[in-house]
Amino acid sequence: MINFQYARATDVSDAVRQIAADPGAKFIAGGTNLLDLMKEEVERPTRLIDISRLPLKTVDETKDGGLRIGALVPNSDLAWHPKIEQCYPLLSSAILAGASAQLRNMASTGGNLLQRTRCYYFYDTATPCNKREPGSGCSAINGVNRMHAILGTSEACIAVHPSDMCVALAALEAKVHVAGPAGERVVAFADFHRLPGDTPQRDSNLRPDEIVVAVELPARGFAANYSYLKIRDRLSYAFALVSVAAGLELDGERIKDARLALGGVAHKPWRDPEAEAAVCGQAANPASFERAAGVLLRGAKGFSHNTFKIDLARRAIVRALTQAARGTPQSQSDKKIR
Ligand code: SF4
Repeated sequence: MINFQYARATDVSDAVRQIAADPGAKFIAGGTNLLDLMKEEVERPTRLIDISRLPLKTVDETKDGGLRIGALVPNSDLAWHPKIEQCYPLLSSAILAGASAQLRNMASTGGNLLQRTRCYYFYDTATPCNKREPGSGCSAINGVNRMHAILGTSEACIAVHPSDMCVALAALEAKVHVAGPAGERVVAFADFHRLPGDTPQRDSNLRPDEIVVAVELPARGFAANYSYLKIRDRLSYAFALVSVAAGLELDGERIKDARLALGGVAHKPWRDPEAEAAVCGQAANPASFERAAGVLLRGAKGFSHNTFKIDLARRAIVRALTQAARGTPQSQSDKKIR
């Protein structure tokens, strides 16, 4: 049993003041990851600051044609929001590929960004884990690592980020609005999450005294030509072995612009603008898609149980781009790799 204090934040400033005053405190909103971590004694907060009643539950249009999504908008509400379905179906599709309906009803937008890896050793306090206990070692590198990373790994950690939603947000070039003692700042999505390096205990560049208040989407949603393809061990309620968020802007048979991000392969959603540049101006055909896959996967390295992910990712990229080029709407049943 972990003893902790409970407090409720009255507004964003109060939430920031409370988290800055207690380094052992954690914010709680939906609790869909934090409560699991507390039950396993991976997280032992001194205080839970309940932010669930803060006024961060709206989706508002921005003056440049995008959307500002409050950090407490539940994942289900976001996936089925008319503007998201219509203008950002890539995001809807990614959210609905994640977790279960019950979890999506509870999980918040901000919490989705901050969920922690599902590496089995991270949750098993009887085993060494640099992310849970820096300096103790990584049990996965020479252990069971079928679900682990093939890109951006370090000698300290080979965990993957578990989110589906974040893969779509990376492809869409979202921005994250965070508030801290000095006010609000905006972080490009590509800079929000971190690679493990020698500090795998830090998943993101959010500072300890900051709170996520919103995610902003730019006007371009790639709604006409997109695909979110998730490859997993079973068809629902499973984390990705590999996932692909793809968006294309076509001019006839030619690719005018492309967006491509991978999930399940790295400590953060994996995106490389050079892979997208490699297909711009090219024909939308399998040869171009193979080229993009080659660039995106350069440097990929497997471990004892997950080398299969490299070829799986290559084929998934080609299939997702093929689906995107065919246009929407898309059938989820057409997203199986055959
Ligand atoms: Fe811990 Fe990362 Fe190694 Fe998993 S991969 S055991 S999270 S250090």
